[in-house]
Amino acid sequence: MAHDYDDQNIFAKILRGEIPNSTVLETEHSLAFRDIAPQAPDHVLVIPKGSYVTYDHFATTASDAEIVDYTRAVGKVCEMLGLTPGDGYRLIANTGRNGVQDVPHLHVHILAGRRLGRMLPPQG
Ligand code: AMP
Repeated sequence: MAHDYDDQNIFAKILRGEIPNSTVLETEHSLAFRDIAPQAPDHVLVIPKGSYVTYDHFATTASDAEIVDYTRAVGKVCEMLGLTPGDGYRLIANTGRNGVQDVPHLHVHILAGRRLGRMLPPQG
């Protein structure tokens, strides 16, 4: 299925500088910034600068340079936050309707600084 990119999504606006963000790290192909509604003491989003909707979209179509840059950016943020080695963290990429993705631009959440509980709540 094709991934139609909506260039009016909020992270596209952040990348264009139309709305502010709390930047943690900027690289050639990636941007990391603090989540506006943090769910843990550390809650950082890492996005590629390219127009990718989901992780699989990125992983299957981005250039090698973008993929290396993005992967290294995630690692660098973990280092900057003192998470590695440390008490650990959770990396989440909510995707599509079932994954409850609100913003249709690839982002991974890095959550840390408290016990995060089980990965998923009990089914119900
Ligand atoms: P998701 O449900 O995985 O798409 O998560 C989207 C995340 O983006 C949520 O955790 C929001 O709090 C966060 N968010 C929305 N708008 C902004 C913004 N302007 N700056 C930083 N984070 C944002």
